[in-house]
Amino acid sequence: MPELPEVETTRRGLAQHLSGCVLSKIDVRQPNLRWLVVLPESLLGQRLLGVTRRAKYLLLRFASGNLIIHLGMSGSLRILTAYHPAGKHDHIDLIFSETRSNSPRGNSILRYTDPRRFGSFHYQPGAVSEHWLLQKLGVEPLAQEFSGLYLYHHAQRRKTAIKNLLMNHQVVVGIGNIYASEALFRAAIRPNVRASRLTRAGAERLVISTKETLEEAILSGGTTLQDFTATDGRPGYFRQQLYVYGRTGKPCRLCGTSVKRVATGQRMSFYCPKCQS
Ligand SMILES: [Zn+2]
Repeated sequence: MPELPEVETTRRGLAQHLSGCVLSKIDVRQPNLRWLVVLPESLLGQRLLGVTRRAKYLLLRFASGNLIIHLGMSGSLRILTAYHPAGKHDHIDLIFSETRSNSPRGNSILRYTDPRRFGSFHYQPGAVSEHWLLQKLGVEPLAQEFSGLYLYHHAQRRKTAIKNLLMNHQVVVGIGNIYASEALFRAAIRPNVRASRLTRAGAERLVISTKETLEEAILSGGTTLQDFTATDGRPGYFRQQLYVYGRTGKPCRLCGTSVKRVATGQRMSFYCPKCQS
């Protein structure tokens, strides 16, 4: 599943390649994604003013409003600079034309591919923060608002496992199973510890390790932007070296102890019993 770093890498790729271009054609071959895709014709002829991100939603900003895109479980976006026949899972093309007269570039096709069709496209005129998908979201993990004090405050009196709190999108957005497990390892906190037992110092460590884990992943993704315009294959998603996620029974990369797993809520969590004691 695309996590926040992959979405942020995609955002940078879109901003770099498409900002300033004019949307000239919308081709929805399969509207039955997670929700029915209905895109207004009024978007045609509008210039893409910028690409931002809120949680794992990509926001393509036009003068009249925003296109809100979520990649779901298996979605990806890539940019084609020459015609390439659409495959079975290539559901949506947004065709942009380069209008700057001094540029030799022609059309760019932003192609959405999604085998499992859990992704989504919505259009929101006016203020994008008022869209129902975005209304109840917590703070961004890389923003200053996500601080040790903030996390400590939200952890008080909660009986849930600390990892579940870190993945609660009404508290902090965009942290999935992989990055929650890795951030907890770096902070030396077990994933199944009750949130209410988190100390103020532990909260500080966990916030710092969460930001570091995400930022490293974004940086390693940034090196793959060149691949973003590849005409075949997936966009340049990446896998940074993981310490614990998915490594049950393998030696901890720091101390050699076997990595263990434990259920936290519906999900499996991974930890080193020695480093995270
Ligand atoms: Zn260890």
